[in-house]
Amino acid sequence: MQALRLRDWKSAPVLEELEKPKAGPGEVVIKVGGAGACHTDILVMDELKAGTQPWAPPFTLGHENAGWVSDLGQGVSELEVGQPVAVYGFWGCGRCDRCQIGIETMCEDLSSAPVVGRGGLGVDGGMAEYMLIPAARFLVPLPDGLDPLDAAPLTDAGLTPYHAIRRSLPKLTPDATAVVIGVGGLGHLAVQILEATTAARVVAVDVKDTALKLASDQGADLCLVSGEETAAEIRRATNGRGADVILDFVGADSTLALGVAAARQMGDLTVVGIGGGTFPFSFQSLPYEVSMQTAYWGTRQELIEVLNMAARGLIKSNTVTFPLSGAAMAYQALRDGEIDGRAVVIPNGSSG
Ligand code: NAD
Ligand code: ZN
Repeated sequence: MQALRLRDWKSAPVLEELEKPKAGPGEVVIKVGGAGACHTDILVMDELKAGTQPWAPPFTLGHENAGWVSDLGQGVSELEVGQPVAVYGFWGCGRCDRCQIGIETMCEDLSSAPVVGRGGLGVDGGMAEYMLIPAARFLVPLPDGLDPLDAAPLTDAGLTPYHAIRRSLPKLTPDATAVVIGVGGLGHLAVQILEATTAARVVAVDVKDTALKLASDQGADLCLVSGEETAAEIRRATNGRGADVILDFVGADSTLALGVAAARQMGDLTVVGIGGGTFPFSFQSLPYEVSMQTAYWGTRQELIEVLNMAARGLIKSNTVTFPLSGAAMAYQALRDGEIDGRAVVIPNGSSG
């Protein structure tokens, strides 16, 4: 089968011929129906160096996946061949306190996880015709009405903003204002999740007009081109108070500074973007009692909730599809800022 592989750090990915994986005991092979191209992969390809991660190339890219069960290993009885499934992308030990309640992203015994890394990040991912899943619990059956192509981007670009929004839910009251900085793959779903799960006013901020047009179509109340005046515009739009919840999907110096300048006292400033920016945190550098925090991916239960929201038509990725032969182009388009919404690779065409 064909697979888009990262062979080495700081290298361009290449299409290679690989053996189709086989499911050993407890494992499952899926036929990939969609593999999203996440900006984190650009960081992995362009910036990470040897020794910075417990895992290393070579591996197949794609950590945002859904498909159909193709092959069941010995002892897997909860799934059926042909069943559409989404991949829960973080693979923990399954036994520690956090894993037991489905928060495998915060696994406290990674040395007991089935593999070092996760699919598409150190271990073979979904930019291939088939993908090996090391344990059946990493698959979530799709609800009726949702196909793998629509489900794939939700496993990260949907789940991560959902998790970030859930952390701030008590502050997202009907009179609150939420700001989404960076309306790309994650951000455009953040706008929709805010609309679907809260009555807060939504302000979208991006450097691209096309991203802001998408945000506006999805219900954002105010769309602002990121610049010197953005924080003042957010304060003006909130009667001087500032925004209750700010979700930063960029994470650059400039967006962290914008978030701080636009935050309301007692607000939440949640950094999701891995832009490498820093902010000098001190008692006086933030409005009183602003909580500055990060958010990382999400729980298995949250993935179930996101998939159900999509099946009900409450959220939908704005998806640009690419064949597997064009997967490297999908990443280049993402790097060049040419994707509005999410680029998703469909290695097997559009049907199971
Ligand atoms: P993307 O490229 O699809 O979207 C980024 C958006 O930000 C684009 O619309 C871009 O125009 C906009 N942008 C860039 N610079 C900006 C600025 N200075 N001000 C305002 N907008 C700006 O990327 P994505 O796949 O949605 O990922 C977003 C970020 O989230 C990346 O840093 C990625 O690595 C990170 N990420 C984090 C997690 C996590 O668990 N924390 C998970 C997935 C992705
Ligand atoms: Zn664990």
